[in-house]
Amino acid sequence: MAEPTPRLAPTAPSSQLLAAGQNDYRIDLLGLGRDALIAEMARLSLPRFRADQLWHWIYHRGVTDFNAMTTLAKPLRMALAETHQISRLAVSRRQESDDGTIKWLFRLADGNEIETVFIPEDDRGTLCISSQVGCTLNCHFCHTGTQRLVRNLTAGEIVGQLMAVFDDLNDWPSGRDDRYVTSIVMMGMGEPLYNYDNVRTALKIIMDEAGIALSRRRITLSTTGILPQMQACGDELAVNLAVSLHAVTDELRDILLPINRKYPIADVLQACREYPRATNARRITFEYVMLKDVNDSPADAEALVKLIAGIPAKVNLIPFNPWPGSVYETSSDAAIEAFARVVMRAGYASPVRKPRGRDILAACGQLKSASERLRRSQRQDQAETA
Ligand code: SAH
Repeated sequence: MAEPTPRLAPTAPSSQLLAAGQNDYRIDLLGLGRDALIAEMARLSLPRFRADQLWHWIYHRGVTDFNAMTTLAKPLRMALAETHQISRLAVSRRQESDDGTIKWLFRLADGNEIETVFIPEDDRGTLCISSQVGCTLNCHFCHTGTQRLVRNLTAGEIVGQLMAVFDDLNDWPSGRDDRYVTSIVMMGMGEPLYNYDNVRTALKIIMDEAGIALSRRRITLSTTGILPQMQACGDELAVNLAVSLHAVTDELRDILLPINRKYPIADVLQACREYPRATNARRITFEYVMLKDVNDSPADAEALVKLIAGIPAKVNLIPFNPWPGSVYETSSDAAIEAFARVVMRAGYASPVRKPRGRDILAACGQLKSASERLRRSQRQDQAETA
């Protein structure tokens, strides 16, 4: 029996809506999880295997044009193109650092902007993905925390960052063997566990074996320690966990990361002990930003290893990356080395994160939409000329 060709009546004359551009009425398939895509097919009276076919084109091949989906019958392609779309984030700006780091500023449909960073290394490449526009945490040493505008990204906007980068680098799974992007870190703008539902949908899409197929071992989610969602993340996603610790006393962590007043050190560490993947094979990463004369003494290092005793972990030391207006200084190399030695002697790997892309403000804690900076300076200009 012939498959019915879906007909969806747009809610207004299509010419009018298409002209509106961002108010494109067509339903976006980007960011629908597998179940949601199957449900959408069912709504159109299409069988489940159509969802599998679409999934392959969208997430394995990177196709956005229904007409190029040659496994679909032509009338179906045409019908879908009328009522549906597979959107892409628009590139507002692309900057490449002297060290090869690439930073994209993406413009979202509502005009907000986010940043995504690719960090190439000898044998791998890591993409740092944002989960929110701005961030509500206000960590005292972080540039993103100074950005006023905040909203959660949709699942489509999260996975869309990876897909736009695949387009840019010609790096789709169906393409070359030696791919550029070999791992992703949820370490861009925002607190991913404050947007857990959308992050979960996006990461499940990214891990799905019929599409992008990135293994959970190659995905790391970084959090300040939002307790309820930390547990859910372990149970439902079981990706690698990185925890922004940065201080060994609640007194100091309260200042550096105000969220500590809600989720203090002892509670966060308890949740780390319970994280299902905290085995030797899958260690938790503790991130520790090195702030000169604030948290970088050998005594701090001693206290740190006592705190995390018994947790299979490594400690990632991040030299502080300055930004315009920041009040902290980067620890000296000698202080970082001495700190690392103490941690290492206690049996924990203590790699020092090499600052990447500092010249284009792409390093840890430096992300902040240029759009917002621009808006502020424009406001200032206007105030001055008024
Ligand atoms: N909100 C999550 C995800 C951001 S990850 C989190 O906090 O874990 C970004 C990492 O860079 C965090 O460990 C953050 O504390 C750290 N960071 C922020 N500002 C920094 C700066 N100026 N220099 C170095 N690291 C910074």
